[in-house]
Amino acid sequence: MCNLADNRGSRGNLIVLSGPSGVGKGTICRELLKKCPDLTYSVSATTRKMRPGETDGREYFFYNVDEFLHLVKKGAFLEWARVYDNYYGTPREFVEKITGEGKDCILEIDVQGALQVKREKPEGVFIFIAPPSKEELVRRITGRGTEDKVEIKKRLDQADGEMAHLAEYDYLVVNDEVSLAVARIQCIITAERCRVHKKSR
Ligand code: 5GP
Repeated sequence: MCNLADNRGSRGNLIVLSGPSGVGKGTICRELLKKCPDLTYSVSATTRKMRPGETDGREYFFYNVDEFLHLVKKGAFLEWARVYDNYYGTPREFVEKITGEGKDCILEIDVQGALQVKREKPEGVFIFIAPPSKEELVRRITGRGTEDKVEIKKRLDQADGEMAHLAEYDYLVVNDEVSLAVARIQCIITAERCRVHKKSR
């Protein structure tokens, strides 16, 4: 369980989990949420097709491209990015509401998105999830069987560029084993809640 006897101020923490495609961010985030019921997950908007087993409003809010771009124009997103062939964005109002109520809100987003959030909300807690090695990332991306060879190469090339942004994050968590990565993130969240001096905006 996450620690509740802490030094949280009136605003909750904005926790951003990010890292290259295939590193296991989604799995880590799901496991973390099971362990920390006091964390609120920010459901993103996307234009990608719904996968079997997904529900609108649970994994994502699904939109067509016109609807998504309309929301972009209205300033509805804290950040948005084109990730491979689809658009993804974080609904601004929801994040503001949750953190405004003093609750911690967690985002699981790509690196371009995380860097945008950092510009607007530098007080956030930015956690980079990295693979234990390049070889292991290749194995994970190939193993999930959702991308063809060209797509796999695109993701691996992009991963190199994304790793180069590590220095802009607050924490590095290597996903060698999901349970260990989750335990490390729980420690980070607890430490952030116990901070005396918050990062200024
Ligand atoms: P998937 O479609 O497989 O669920 O996610 C593809 C990628 O999009 C993942 O790297 C995921 O972290 C990223 N992603 C999901 N939601 C958002 C979002 O709101 N903003 C950004 N920038 N990336 C997102």
